[in-house]
Formats: sequence, structure tokens, C-alpha cells
Amino acid sequence: MSEHSPGTDLRRSAPPLIFESGSPGRSGFFWPEEKGEGGEKIPSELLRDDIPGFPELGELEVLRHFTRLSHLNYAIESQFYPLGSCTMKYNPKVNEVVARLPGFSSLHPLAPPELIQGALELLYELEEMLAEISGMAHVTLQPAAGAQGELTGLMVIRACLRERSNPRRKIIVPDTAHGTNPASSTLCGYEVVQISSSNRGMVEAAKVAEVMDEEVAALMLTNPNTLGIFEKNIQEIAEVVHKKGGLVYLDGANLNALMGIAKPGDMGVDVLHINLHKTFSTPHGGGGPGAGPVGVKSFLRDFLPVPRILKKDGSFVLREDFAKSVGRVRSFFGNFGILVRAYAYIISLGSDGLEEASRMALLNANYLRKKLEGAYQLAYPEPCMHECVFTDRLQQRHGVATLDIAKRLLDYGFHPPTIYFPLVVSGALMIEPTETENREILDAFADAMNSIAREAKEHPDLVKGAPYTTPVGRLDEARAARKPVLRWEPAKE
Ligand SMILES: *Cc1c(COP(=O)(O)O)cnc(C)c1O
Repeated sequence: MSEHSPGTDLRRSAPPLIFESGSPGRSGFFWPEEKGEGGEKIPSELLRDDIPGFPELGELEVLRHFTRLSHLNYAIESQFYPLGSCTMKYNPKVNEVVARLPGFSSLHPLAPPELIQGALELLYELEEMLAEISGMAHVTLQPAAGAQGELTGLMVIRACLRERSNPRRKIIVPDTAHGTNPASSTLCGYEVVQISSSNRGMVEAAKVAEVMDEEVAALMLTNPNTLGIFEKNIQEIAEVVHKKGGLVYLDGANLNALMGIAKPGDMGVDVLHINLHKTFSTPHGGGGPGAGPVGVKSFLRDFLPVPRILKKDGSFVLREDFAKSVGRVRSFFGNFGILVRAYAYIISLGSDGLEEASRMALLNANYLRKKLEGAYQLAYPEPCMHECVFTDRLQQRHGVATLDIAKRLLDYGFHPPTIYFPLVVSGALMIEPTETENREILDAFADAMNSIAREAKEHPDLVKGAPYTTPVGRLDEARAARKPVLRWEPAKE
């Protein structure tokens, strides 16, 4: 593709709007008689004489129109999706099949526990499996997303500290944290104290000690952090926090770097959340349902949200009567299907399979790191975990920025990585290949990236004009988000 010159118009023409297609009088169906003798088939008050600009098309035209549109979607099932921090891995179809079994999919949220023992057993066992994987004593499946898990975990911490003496005022959050960490802290009534990470991309115990005092309720740490680096000092950091009576919260959204290999519970962590929709086999993106279970050490058990699932004399019950509980964080298990998928995923892989998945995630990310480090500058030289972060520093010499590289990747048929995050890396390109990709795909992606680096040097304008092969070029993304046009209006003559 490097022969594309900036002027070449290779843009695929965008499919016409359905309103611009068709011809008056075309239709997908016909009444036997438009207006029969016995009166009208459709009561006249329900009929509109004229809908301005209403498209008239045959059935096949409609079918082709929507099939064409569906092909504009980018999906993990059609191509590589290296969106860092999101874990866009392939989720085996067997988990979908299991989640759709009528016994699971048609449960009523108000069904009495006696009639849903199987579902409760599944939830109970999933809690136990996640506790085992994370090294925590108890898990609640209540939170429906990572961010809600954070809020729930912080509410648990607050309730515990309030019982001890006072809930305290502050939460320490490193500058590499996901934006949800400071947001959840604020929502829970805490003030955020930000600390910077070292030039090796890690939090240092000394930095934590500088700001740690008796008003700090907790430190929120992400491990591996959003730079894809393992926080090696986590145990030492946890000691600093614990010495002053604070708790350690672990953002475990990206557990596919650790599962089966290391347990956060062994690292001094008191509370953590896990994103089932990243690590445990739920397709995500587009804001679909998620699940952000929270795990706690045993001293925090009584503060967990209700209802809790308990096993009593061989059967499963939902219990609400825990005086110290933070209460309900949601109404029903509306995301039950996500939990079924996670259960099926864990059972089908087994402990060896989970470990192998983690090792593949690490291997794939480090493979790409090595293949790209000649052409792109690594944000930090450390070996990475499940994702690696590059900068556009080398390309900036030619006036080419991360956004240009991302747009150019579209011409090569790849979804771009996460860009401009984490914020501490200027011009970040955050690549997470995930464990489900094979070597040929990784090589093809690396070839595309390296070819773009060459183009940036030799034909910077070419890269800056990309994409050329998509139905639309560069969009004003801010305007599209702030002033979306969702309604079609007929053109005014
Ligand atoms: C994705 C992610 C979150 C937020 O999870 P949601 O389910 O989107 O709310 C929090 N922290 C980290 C590190 C993440 O990667």
C-alpha cells in the first residue's frame, strides 16, 4: 500500500442513505386489494397520507442495504482488534451457546430461590472460582461494570474504616490510573491525591510514603498498570499503606496478565475488582452489559453488598440481613448472562488453561514490542505484561502524529490501538494483542506498523492524509459526539 500517493482517491464510495434509494411506487409487499369492498384493510385514522421523503424500496433492495451496512462494522470476528486496556479477544462461541440455554436466558428476576437453585449454584460457584483465581476470601457478583466495582469496593472500605474510627478523607491514585479510579473515589466522597510514577513507569513506595497519612482511606493501584508494566513494589507499597491504617485497592480490570500465575491476594491487596467482560469471555464494546465482581479479604466480608448468596444445608439462598452491609448496589442480576459466560469460560479452560491464556497474552504483547521497537519509541523500556505502549516521538520529527498513524492503519485493514492513553505518555499508542491471536496475524500487524513508520519518514503527507480506503475520511469526532445528528430531514428545495 506504500505506493498510495496522497492525491490518489481510493475511497470506497459510501453506500447511499436508504432515503436516497428506491423509486416511487416500489414496495416490499402488496395488499390483495388496496381498498377492498368491505372497507379499508387498515383503519383510515391509522394511515398517513404522506410521509415526506419516505423511501420506497423492494424487499431485496432493503436487504442489500442493511447487509452492506453490516459489513461496515469492524469486529473481532473479522479482524485483529489491538485496542489496549480493552482486551478485545476472541470469546469462544460455546460460552454464547451456554448463556442462551432457556433455563438460564428465560429466568424471571423475581423467581423465588427454590425455583432457581441451578442459577444460584452457578453464581455461588463462580464467586468461589473468582476468589480462588484472585486470592481473595470472598467475592460479590453484584457490580455490573468495572467502574461500579470500584465504587462498591470503595464503599466497603469506607464502611470498614467508619466502623474502626472514621471513614477518612483521601484516596491515593497514581497518574497512570484509568480515569474511572479518580471518578469512583470522588463519587464515594473522597478527595483524590495523585502521585506520579517513576521513569520506569512504576509506583515507588517512597512516593506513597510521602503522601500517606492517617487521613488516607486507601491507595488504588492497577496491576499490571495501564502502561502494561507490573508494579513490582506492590508488597512494599501495601506495607506503607497498612502501617498508617489505610487499605489497598487493586484495579484488577486486566486480569488476563495474571490469572493462573499470580494472585493479587498474595500481594497485600485488601479489595479488588475484576472485569469479566475483559478477561472472562464476554464480547464487549459499544457499552453493552458487563460485570465487575469485587473480591475482599475476610475482615471485609460483612460489608459486602446484599443480597449475598449462601449455601445452607445443601441448597442456595439469597440473604439480605447483614447489618454492616453497604446495602444494595443494584436491583437485579440483569447481567446474569455475562456471569454464565464467565463460568463456562473458566470451567472449559480449567486452571491450566487459564494460566496458558495469561502466558499467551504476555508472549504476544512482548512479541509485538520486540517487532516494533526499532521503528517506534517505547514509552518505557521495561518488558511488558499483556500490552505495550509506544510513543510517536520518532514520527513527530516528520510531523506525523499518533492520530495519523492510527488513521493510516485503517488503510491496512487494521483497527488502530488505543491512542493518547495513558495520559502520562505523550502521543501514546497502546497495543494489546490478547492471547487469542496467532503469529501470522501479529506479523501482519507488525508489517503494517513498520511500513507506516517508513511512510512517515519518506512520505509524511501520505500518512497525514489517511485514511484513503474507508467510506468516510477524517471526521470531526468532537462535533459528532457533542452534536449528533440522529434524525434524517428531507432536503429543503
Ligand atoms: C476497563 C477498565 C476500567 C473500567 O471498567 P468498565 O467496565 O469500563 O467500567 C477500570 N480500570 C481499568 C484498568 C480498565 O482497564
